[in-house]
Amino acid sequence: MNGLPISVYAPETVGCVAVDSQGCCAAATSTGGLMNKKTGRIGDSPLIGAGTYACDVCGVSCTGEGEAIIRGTLAREVAAVMEYKGLGLQEAVDFVVKERLDEGLAGLIAVSKTGEVAYGFNCVGMFRGCATEDGFMEVGIWE
Ligand code: ASP
Repeated sequence: MNGLPISVYAPETVGCVAVDSQGCCAAATSTGGLMNKKTGRIGDSPLIGAGTYACDVCGVSCTGEGEAIIRGTLAREVAAVMEYKGLGLQEAVDFVVKERLDEGLAGLIAVSKTGEVAYGFNCVGMFRGCATEDGFMEVGIWE
């Protein structure tokens, strides 16, 4: 784990994943980019498969160092290891955060078609929350 503060990232980052009663997954990510980013830089957030991805397996939204997220095609990798390795959602998230993020600090939230919720990050913390239709609500920052 690295000691960088989470405020290195854009505080405006908002990612959302959802699954409906039919098992249809969706993901969306809004970002202000990174601090001191180059003019014209496009991060991972709008790149489907990198910072944002949804399919018939899961929905994933990422935050953190976009270049590392892009190199690892992080969001798609979660779905891929579920499909090809048969991992559950949290296992897939843990695998991807550990094995597919080279030098970068990042995190992600994910939901599966069966309604599992998972998150993972390799930095100090990640603001996150979860709500389900039966009224369960949870927020967190640290591990
Ligand atoms: N991943 C974004 C980027 O690199 C930053 C963020 O929103 O977390 O542009």
